[in-house]
Amino acid sequence: MVSTHGVVSYKHETQQNISLYINGEFTPALSGTTIKNMNPFTNEQINEVAEGQSDDINKAVAAAREAFDHGPWKTMKLKKRMAYIYRIADLIDEDIERITYLESLDTGLPISQTRNMVSRASENFRFYARMVESRLVGDAYQVDDEFINYTIHAPVGVAGLITPWNAPFMLETWKVAPALATGNTVVLKPAELSPLSANLLAEVIHKADLPKGVFNVVHGYGETAGDALVKHPDVQLISFTGETTTGTTIIKNSADTLKSCSMELGGKSPIIVFEDADFDRALDACVWGIYSFNGERCTANSRLFVQEEIKDKFIEALKLRVTNIKVGDPLDAYTEVGPLIDKGHYNKVNSYLEIAKEEGTEVINGDIPIELAKGNFVAPTLILNAENHMRVAQEEIFGPVLTVMTFKDEEEVIRLANSIEYGLAGYVWTNDIKRGHRVAQKVEAGMLWVNAQNVRDLRTPFGGSKSSGIGREGGHYGFNFYTEQKIIHVSIADHRIQQFGKK
Ligand code: NAD
Repeated sequence: MVSTHGVVSYKHETQQNISLYINGEFTPALSGTTIKNMNPFTNEQINEVAEGQSDDINKAVAAAREAFDHGPWKTMKLKKRMAYIYRIADLIDEDIERITYLESLDTGLPISQTRNMVSRASENFRFYARMVESRLVGDAYQVDDEFINYTIHAPVGVAGLITPWNAPFMLETWKVAPALATGNTVVLKPAELSPLSANLLAEVIHKADLPKGVFNVVHGYGETAGDALVKHPDVQLISFTGETTTGTTIIKNSADTLKSCSMELGGKSPIIVFEDADFDRALDACVWGIYSFNGERCTANSRLFVQEEIKDKFIEALKLRVTNIKVGDPLDAYTEVGPLIDKGHYNKVNSYLEIAKEEGTEVINGDIPIELAKGNFVAPTLILNAENHMRVAQEEIFGPVLTVMTFKDEEEVIRLANSIEYGLAGYVWTNDIKRGHRVAQKVEAGMLWVNAQNVRDLRTPFGGSKSSGIGREGGHYGFNFYTEQKIIHVSIADHRIQQFGKK
């Protein structure tokens, strides 16, 4: 272990191949096939990952089903189940440096940013343990002196969790924590491009000694393993985070088995900067909001609307900042932007820079140093003189690319911000407090921030509107998805019952 700039590094650790985790055991895929897992910084192989397919999903779902129907998990005393959840959080914290390192190695996300995300992972477990202890409560309805009706929350069954490659560990735990804490059993299908931290989660949960079958991980491709999970009749819930097009496919494929689906999908979120905004803070937030996490962030402010009065000054300041961003090795603590997840995504993001030129915009970015040529680097980029109807203003690029537009007044910017299929997040910068609220309320998105960057409060609802998602997770809102609300009607008097057929 070497310490560089205060970051503990495991640079010399070689990675073992990864198995599936089913019924409390690490096991190869039944087919014996594997997927090569590549390093985005070098494009060299990190290791191989067992390629789960439908047989493996069947095995994992059978284990989860058995654990749900006959195991101790859902009927266990609350205190005991939550002790497991707190133990998972503690074990994550104990291994935080290693998880952080492996997450950055696997995804190309800069290590200084990854550390905060990994810390959120243990907090996801602690938070949901506290929530279940304090807020998983029903309602009682007194009906005159005849009935007392009450609701209870019951676990639903086997939860299928399908996650993407951006911030994988945080997003996996974001789903696993509420699913387990509320008493469900889980089959997790992580993204094929970032399997390392899902394997670490299996190791952590194995160490926490959860009852067999409660938590299972099946690595593999979406079209095979993911699809089999979505269609499996013994799976009741699908919580999915990923692209909008994948989300629509999953909803269609889950229809025959009538599953409850929670969809956290793509975004193209606006940041609106009015002329009276705190210039420096708005600039900081704008740059961080699009270039952090390599721009591979669902809530990234990828569309900037800056008011005409300050556009020249703001764009000049942006140019300076963007060309100064430190691009480099994701394991270097000073790196601000690392390589994109894989060659396919690199090609996609680059293709948008070509589209931007064809659409007549001005594309501004620096050069990638020759020593980084092996990695999937796209330089932090500004697209200037864009118009809202253009593809670069409408489509999710999911890279370090900011599309810049201008506006005259409040009415115009609300219209422009809403003229898009997505509705995940939005950011408003103004020192006119009334205007801040007004605009935030009118922007069509699930989550808005006024004079703030994307700071999350775990108690609040998370999710998008329009093509950015269906449903809300987070806080007690997640209980609507991860539990079945049952109403129990109890007669406390002799109410009238009709007497059909009585002579
Ligand atoms: P993706 O849709 O390609 O893949 C996500 C997951 O779905 C992977 O595990 C993949 O294997 C699986 N999958 C693919 N096809 C499937 C199928 N037919 N059936 C079942 N599973 C299938 O997404 P990605 O490229 O990994 O992630 C990036 C996307 O995720 C971006 O669009 C981003 O905006 C979105 N995202 C959204 C949020 C949010 O909370 N709204 C958060 C993070 C990422």
